[in-house]
Amino acid sequence: MKKRILLIITAFITVIMTAGLFVGCAETADSSRPEKNRDLFLFNPYRNVDFSTTERFKADFHLHSTNSDGTLSPQENIRRFSELGFDFLPMVDHSYGAGLPAGRFHQRPAGHTILTSSQVGAGTNSRANAVTWPWSDFGVTEYYNIIPILASEPSRLHHFGSFFTEWHEEGAPGDWAAGQDVRSIYRMLECATVYDGGQGRFEIFHPERHVTEAAGSEDFADHLAWLDNTESNALHTAIWYQELLNSFPTVLSMEMFNQDDRHPSRHIYDRVMRGMMPARPVWLSANSDDHGGHSGRSVNIMLMQERTEIAFRQAWEQGAYFAKSFGAFDPGLLELDYEYLDELELPIHERINQRFGDRWAYLPTVHDIIIDDYSGYIVVKASNYTQFEWITEDGVVVADGNIVNFRTNSAISGYVRGQLTRRTADGTIMATTLMQPFGVGLFNPNSWFFHFTGLDVTTA
Ligand SMILES: [Zn+2]
Repeated sequence: MKKRILLIITAFITVIMTAGLFVGCAETADSSRPEKNRDLFLFNPYRNVDFSTTERFKADFHLHSTNSDGTLSPQENIRRFSELGFDFLPMVDHSYGAGLPAGRFHQRPAGHTILTSSQVGAGTNSRANAVTWPWSDFGVTEYYNIIPILASEPSRLHHFGSFFTEWHEEGAPGDWAAGQDVRSIYRMLECATVYDGGQGRFEIFHPERHVTEAAGSEDFADHLAWLDNTESNALHTAIWYQELLNSFPTVLSMEMFNQDDRHPSRHIYDRVMRGMMPARPVWLSANSDDHGGHSGRSVNIMLMQERTEIAFRQAWEQGAYFAKSFGAFDPGLLELDYEYLDELELPIHERINQRFGDRWAYLPTVHDIIIDDYSGYIVVKASNYTQFEWITEDGVVVADGNIVNFRTNSAISGYVRGQLTRRTADGTIMATTLMQPFGVGLFNPNSWFFHFTGLDVTTA
């Protein structure tokens, strides 16, 4: 009897609670519908791009020549990248590196001497070691319409792409063994930033490689655990990257694809960016890291009005580009028969298309971006993709398809970036296109990064 009364009471309470829940749901549905957050600001990295008139130029931020550990001469690199249709080419040779041939970095042309930090501090103007520049000093006589970009790869504590400056790390391997800490890389960036009139700009190359070494594991979960490590002296943690990025607005981007995606770094990017946006965008790049066999695996499509170094630099600084990669996919059309190409009496830019058709047409392509700031919709017109994901902090996918709403999608945290994937019928990833992150948040108009890069921050 007692038990039965208890049962009835329990059932009664359950009914009341359930009814209450339904009432609550109904109220929510009625009153909270499109309660959009009007205080949210959208930062659109493509805001200065007119998609109806913009031109698209190809750049690879990361390749090597025989001046470090590449197998092709600067001249042969230029020829091959020109055949692939590239417009801008930085010859990014290492400052030094473990496993490189002895003496490789001492094969400098006359007049190229090693620069020390103190010389940099004293304003000494001298050629740094391993900076493959000017190309004419390295046997280049034919540019094949490629625009050369002054660049190198400081390779001590963390590999960086260093652009628009002749400054380079000094000394021999081991010199900094005792100083392999946070300060040495800050010193490198400080020197490189003030040298050449403060023209230097930088990209963080293959962070996955460095996080893997620090974590001692290839596993994504271990990487994420390492990134969350808060020990003050731990290298290559999320805090380490964030402090560096917040110290140097000259560090513009991170390399997401490297060769055949041997250092996949998207998950690291989304971890490092936690809490950074919208005040501090970091752009995403895709590079070949070509040492002789990976040219054309990736490309950065720069959205520019004119084909000049100044326009290239501005497009990079402002994030007006898409990072694209074939990744690990090899449809066969990547194998280039250079002897055959030489036999074709065609302008060098047209030879590849003659042989294979336009291989770049296989990559997902963004044609236009339409933003309705009032409703909050971001609509992307695109083709050549089978999956379109919108990703936010920690790699959380907040939406699928070519539309996302930054006002009503409460899962967006700080930024949202579009990732377009093309798969073959059996599901193999064939190509990926990364859009730059849209900043979403209570905007700080005094963001030093926007001032630094010349981005107008007063309107969406
Ligand atoms: Zn490297």
